Amino acid sequence: MPNSKPIKDYIRTIVDFPHEGIMFRDVTTLFADPRGFRMAIDQLLHPYAGMQIDKVVGLEARGFILGGAVAHQLSVGFVPIRKKGKLPGAVISEEYQLEYGEAIVEVHDDAITAGEKILVVDDLLATGGTAEAGIKLVERLGGEIIGCAFVIDLLELGGRAKLEAMGMDVHALCD
Ligand code: IMP
Repeated sequence: MPNSKPIKDYIRTIVDFPHEGIMFRDVTTLFADPRGFRMAIDQLLHPYAGMQIDKVVGLEARGFILGGAVAHQLSVGFVPIRKKGKLPGAVISEEYQLEYGEAIVEVHDDAITAGEKILVVDDLLATGGTAEAGIKLVERLGGEIIGCAFVIDLLELGGRAKLEAMGMDVHALCD
């Protein structure tokens, strides 16, 4: 049977998670579907066909699932950006603002070589704070970001505008 379902239709919304009033976009239903997952990886890569990409950077945690599959498809290495204290080697860190308080993300300081061309991948772009911190880490290591690819762009939260103002090319499969 041909698959004509758009990406959006594979994503489930959970009301009041993790807090009351939040509509959580749950991509586990997309990941669990063989056609949905295949299509998401293909579509994440589509704009970059024929371009040189040396490494894929994934943002914790769902960016690891997507970014790992994207890196495998491109036959390039994968680099995780993790929350503070999770990576075992020497790291560099970036702090960013959450709705309440701050968070810190880290990358191994030898994970990217200056001049490498990088694709950044995550499941969802909201305010853009997480992606901005990840981009800063990549750029501090000398990586050149070719694009930032997301499954979902919550446009009204301004993440795309923030990343585009940093000169980033933003690609999302649905909003
Ligand atoms: P931002 O930093 O505000 O852009 O938030 C994006 C980060 O929060 C990403 O790493 C997402 O995985 C996560 N996130 C925020 N809201 C949701 C959601 O509704 N579903 C899944 N992840 C979310």
